[in-house]
Amino acid sequence: MTKDTHILFKTIFDQSPISTQIFTPDGETYLVNNAWEQLWNIKFAELKKYNILKDQQLVETGIMPYIKRGFKGEVVSLPAIRYIAPKSVSVKSAVQFRWLSATMYPIKEDGIIEYLVLQHKDITERKEAEEEKQLFTSIVKSSRDAIISKNLDGIIQTWNKSAEKMFGFTQEEAIGKHITVTVPTELRSEETEIISKIKRGIPIRHYQTVRWNKQHKRFPVSISISPVTDMHGKIIGAANITRDITEEKNTETKIRESEERLRIALDAGKIGVWDWNIADNKLTWTDKVYSIHGVNKNKFKVSFQNFKKLIHPDDKKRVFETIEKTLKGTAKFIIEFRIITPAGKIRWVSTQANVFCDENNKPIRLLGATSEITQQKQIEQEKNDFLSMASHELRTPITSMKMFVDLLYNTLKKEKNEKPLYLAHRVREQTNRLKELINNLLDVSRIETGKLQLNKDIFNISSLVHETVDGIQASTKNKIEVKKLKNFRVFGDKYRIYQVLINLITNASKYSDSDTKIIISVSRRNNHAVVSVQDFGIGIAQDKHKKIFDRLYQVDDTPVKTFPGLGLGLFISKQIIEKHDGKIWVSSKKGKGSTFIFTLPLKN
Ligand code: ADP
Repeated sequence: MTKDTHILFKTIFDQSPISTQIFTPDGETYLVNNAWEQLWNIKFAELKKYNILKDQQLVETGIMPYIKRGFKGEVVSLPAIRYIAPKSVSVKSAVQFRWLSATMYPIKEDGIIEYLVLQHKDITERKEAEEEKQLFTSIVKSSRDAIISKNLDGIIQTWNKSAEKMFGFTQEEAIGKHITVTVPTELRSEETEIISKIKRGIPIRHYQTVRWNKQHKRFPVSISISPVTDMHGKIIGAANITRDITEEKNTETKIRESEERLRIALDAGKIGVWDWNIADNKLTWTDKVYSIHGVNKNKFKVSFQNFKKLIHPDDKKRVFETIEKTLKGTAKFIIEFRIITPAGKIRWVSTQANVFCDENNKPIRLLGATSEITQQKQIEQEKNDFLSMASHELRTPITSMKMFVDLLYNTLKKEKNEKPLYLAHRVREQTNRLKELINNLLDVSRIETGKLQLNKDIFNISSLVHETVDGIQASTKNKIEVKKLKNFRVFGDKYRIYQVLINLITNASKYSDSDTKIIISVSRRNNHAVVSVQDFGIGIAQDKHKKIFDRLYQVDDTPVKTFPGLGLGLFISKQIIEKHDGKIWVSSKKGKGSTFIFTLPLKN
């Protein structure tokens, strides 16, 4: 070869657009052309240490299987493979992946293979387009939505599996038919509109309508339609993505129905709902809340500030304290208070609310329900007035009755007139009982009207226990045992605490057999005196422990009422103790006796 032809071939080799790599049968690269360097963005000089036979991926995939099998020197076209840049060349700029179709052939001298020529055609772009198409096809195939393409005349061109399932037509049946096979008769004009939009290149998103299947069974759908263009951007058809939204619609209907039910329930219960967004200080009311507050929805601007103005001045403090406690998480928002409507009417409302906190436990929202309870309050008031009046009226005759009976009893006693004495004694007992009942009724009415007064003074609670027991033992069927008491001084209404003790001891005896004893003790816990009254009687089931302190509550687990009483004693006792800043509770098991405990702050 002359020098000129050498240069000529070298130039053609270098300028050839086909990437070419020439290597020896040992794997050493002998020469690469510009196209090869461009393909991988690697310079030939950097390939010095690269041996093609040691390139694992080539060995496993491309050309090597041929060489291994004993390459005879034929031209082999290798299948398109995804190559990565030669591994041993760690050049940052080296291209990572290319799709190549390769051809390999030998250069022989005297029948012996001197060199191998590997020529690559970069088909990455084509491959990627293919891959994309494949991906798209598999998405279409596996999509839960029906994906249908149609031409501008509305003739179906493609029809995926979900379309088959949704509409009941197989691919063969559907293709070539008009898209209106999926559209109920009365909705067919929709299709004309859709096509006219598509022709103007306007896509349609999430259009909710109704379609039907082969059996004309209708179902709600959401359809998105996009224009399909050819290579030149000309609109040639449309792609429909149809989603069956039966389930969503059912859920929607269910939610709407349940909202409707809730609304009816709220209306029936005359309940208004309010929502206070604390962070934005935004308050919203339902119509009912407006009418409860006697304000006009169109004129009254709902805000916490304006709501405050409607609260009765005497109840404001209590309402704010409750809100504050609720937001701190120390109390539940359940409150009854008065409001004054703009027309000057006083109304009682009852409100309950739940507080919602953010992830840092900071309250952000208070959601509540309000109802008007003016009428209930009025009835309650009337009842209380009657109770108060009746017990007052009864008290006068009973006091004189008691006086006369005492007198009679003492006279008969002096005369040692046994039979009449016994009768007088019984009358006296019943009179005392009647007096106690009337006193209880009076106390309840005092509590209800907030008129229970305490005359507080310092006294020795242990001495009071002793005195009370001494006074009551004679008329009590059970033996009362007072545990060794220390002297504790408390500050309170001695008469009222005596009343609590009497109530607890009377109950202890009433609810136990006469052969069991009652144990009373006074101890100290922190800065409180703790008084306990224990019996070994019928006991109280756990779920009743709180309720027995409610007004008029009596445990009722026997078919016939066995024990006398009104269910007021514990209610009164609780009010008295709480007015002293103390606590009262019971520890008991059914059939195992009860221990009633109350605490009173110590006076240091
Ligand atoms: P009552 O007048 O009915 O005794 P109280 O308010 O004193 O009313 O008590 C309420 C209810 O609590 C009683 O009806 C009774 O069921 C229950 N109870 C109170 N004390 C005891 C006790 N020591 N043992 C068992 N049950 C009791």
